[in-house]
Amino acid sequence: MSFVRGLKCRECGREYPVDPIYVCEFCFGPLEVIYDYEGIRKTLTREKIQSRPQNLWRYRELLPIDGEPGSGLQSGFTPLIRADNLAGVLGLKELYIKDDTVAHPTLSFKDRVVAVALTKAKEFGFDTVACASTGNLAHAVSAQGAKAGFNRFIFIPASLEKSKIVASLVYEPNLIAVEGNYDEVNRLCSEVANKYRWAFVNINIRPFYSEGSKTHGYEIVEQLGWRAPDNVIVPCASGSLLTKIWKSFKEMKEIGLIGEMKTKAFAAQASGCCPIVTALKHKVDVIKPVKPDTIAKSLAIGNPADGFYALQVIKESGGFGEDVSDREIIDAIKLLAKTEGIFAETAGGVTLASAIRLIKAGYISKDSLTVICITGNGLKTQEALIGHTKEPSYIKPNMASFEEALKKIKT
Ligand SMILES: *Cc1c(COP(=O)(O)O)cnc(C)c1O
Repeated sequence: MSFVRGLKCRECGREYPVDPIYVCEFCFGPLEVIYDYEGIRKTLTREKIQSRPQNLWRYRELLPIDGEPGSGLQSGFTPLIRADNLAGVLGLKELYIKDDTVAHPTLSFKDRVVAVALTKAKEFGFDTVACASTGNLAHAVSAQGAKAGFNRFIFIPASLEKSKIVASLVYEPNLIAVEGNYDEVNRLCSEVANKYRWAFVNINIRPFYSEGSKTHGYEIVEQLGWRAPDNVIVPCASGSLLTKIWKSFKEMKEIGLIGEMKTKAFAAQASGCCPIVTALKHKVDVIKPVKPDTIAKSLAIGNPADGFYALQVIKESGGFGEDVSDREIIDAIKLLAKTEGIFAETAGGVTLASAIRLIKAGYISKDSLTVICITGNGLKTQEALIGHTKEPSYIKPNMASFEEALKKIKT
């Protein structure tokens, strides 16, 4: 049984039945899924959730599907790690890493959104799925689409990291590498979506797809022992993940699974592509599109579709945002690896480096409970670190050579 009541325009409030549509016909506002929270409140308990398999579908009443999950059964319930070593370095009392570098088949949080999008695409009767991607979405649609038996058209900027291109090609989708940046790829895809009856997960399926991000937030609440954190720091590309984590905390309160919710939401972006943080810093509501130039390619969206709504959430919550240089991104990747044993991709470096700035500037107090959202695995973006790590100790295969090296290591 589904608790979805339909779709609703975020701007004018007009309601629509559940269909593969994403903008309001009257005011062009984005559509969002609405639920019968009263109904969910009556049936969904902590115990019920805890009795289910450890994947993202344990919160299925809060996700927009009608039947059984058709994808992503191996995704989610990623670790929430108490990061005491890192907390020591940053001078915080209680710090957690929500670690989406693992427990997803394609090693990023995009497996969450795609699980919901492909289940919905099946319910709508599509045989072809497609996406415009900065890399990680390409992996998730390619892989989950293969398993679920869809034709797949994946559009990416041709300038993506080689490792990210190979990690899509291995699943043999139709990979279209466009000479242009993500925003140009996305514009082209909107035209393609108008002409071909395909399920573009981030275009005509977007209202359903984006709901998958909420599971990152539900898991944080459950893993903290059914409470929302004081601060959550979220990397922003389109801004969708940030708004959905916030929505997930609010819903948990709405259906009575947690008592209170006072979380401040913070945005993390790379200085080479920070339209949301720039608007925050300049105290304006209008997001000015930028041309991305950063090593954090998975976050390189210059014209963020949900940027305006991310700004609203950040302001409503009392949070803020920061942007960081490529140098800071690399240093933060190394710090996270060295202190917590977690290898994050460039987006993770952005998030941690932004957190460091926010702590230094006093936006995050030392004795509050903070969660840093690490959304993708470092094996995907190894190129970014080449030349920025120490060298191995090269030796001959004998004891003397080893002890020679050992002397250098010790001194
Ligand atoms: C896509 C992505 C994000 C941000 O996603 P939005 O919802 O578009 O803001 C964050 N981290 C990684 C690794 C991503 O691939």
